[in-house]
Amino acid sequence: MLIVMKTDATVAQVEAVVRVIEALGFRAHPMPGTSRTAIGITGNQGAVDATHFENLPGVSEAVRVSKPYKLVTLDIRSEKTIVQVGDATIGGDELAIIAGPCAIETRDQAFAVAEAVRRSGAKFFRGGAFKPRTSPYAFQGLGEAGLKILEEIRETYGLKIVTEALDEAGVDLVERYADVIQIGARSMQNFTLLRRAGKSRLPVLLKRGLSATLDEWLLAAEYIMSEGNYQIVLCERGIRTFAQHTRNTLDLSAVPAVRRISHLPVIVDPSHGTGKNYMVTPLARAGVAVGADGLIIEVHSQPDHALCDGAQALTLDQYEQLVSEVRAIHDVIVPATVT
Ligand code: PEP
Ligand code: MN
Repeated sequence: MLIVMKTDATVAQVEAVVRVIEALGFRAHPMPGTSRTAIGITGNQGAVDATHFENLPGVSEAVRVSKPYKLVTLDIRSEKTIVQVGDATIGGDELAIIAGPCAIETRDQAFAVAEAVRRSGAKFFRGGAFKPRTSPYAFQGLGEAGLKILEEIRETYGLKIVTEALDEAGVDLVERYADVIQIGARSMQNFTLLRRAGKSRLPVLLKRGLSATLDEWLLAAEYIMSEGNYQIVLCERGIRTFAQHTRNTLDLSAVPAVRRISHLPVIVDPSHGTGKNYMVTPLARAGVAVGADGLIIEVHSQPDHALCDGAQALTLDQYEQLVSEVRAIHDVIVPATVT
């Protein structure tokens, strides 16, 4: 159920509705918007009786929710969510660029890339300290030592740090050193991890699972939101198909599909979405053209020597070129308001 408040409802009236929801043993999720506040209810097993709310002061209507998700949808919040990370945003007018190596390998490698990322004007630096690898024998990341390098990069360049947590203990660590918790494609349905991220004060970058439908992906976001963390960025990173010319098939139609249902920002990952260096820039351009709020790009100072995902890493020069191209496209389409 969704309680829609009147446009002139007061804060006290919203609080009174929240108290009624809590007294019933449920959780209230007030979502203020520019024209009105709506309050989502979670924690109920069956239908909630609308008569609890209909006559409360300030309530416009109590709406039964027929979709499987309640908090990610435009029904509860018609304006787009702008995820705020310090002085940077994802989902606002600015194109968010998150760039860096697949994995933090050494201090020198990470700093060489970070310097180029800073120079490009991007505000976010990515790099895995905990890597979800297909083989247990592949490089697994530097762990906390990698997070310490990321923290140094944040202090040196003022870049916001985006890094993956593989499990609940990983979230504890990422919270200490970084600005955004990445939940990887392989973890998209790790429900205990999603719930833990939902209790965090840090925004979450939620990648689409390798074979996730739109509903499954949005329900993963719903897990996080149902715990009270509403700062989520969805990331389309390609899905498994029969195609052999790419590592994954980058499903750019996911961007307008998400937009139609959800207020959450959505970004595109053309690095994992293609797996091939020469395809990253063309698909990054396409991602921006289709209306993505940002891009996440893998960059390496020496892709040939990368310990992880070297085939899809851009060189520093290629990355600089990509940024100028996608910015030019973004400048053209923003006034046109892509929907
Ligand atoms: C990554 O960003 O390096 C990564 C492992 O991504 P994904 O979860 O999309 O495979
Ligand atoms: Mn990678």
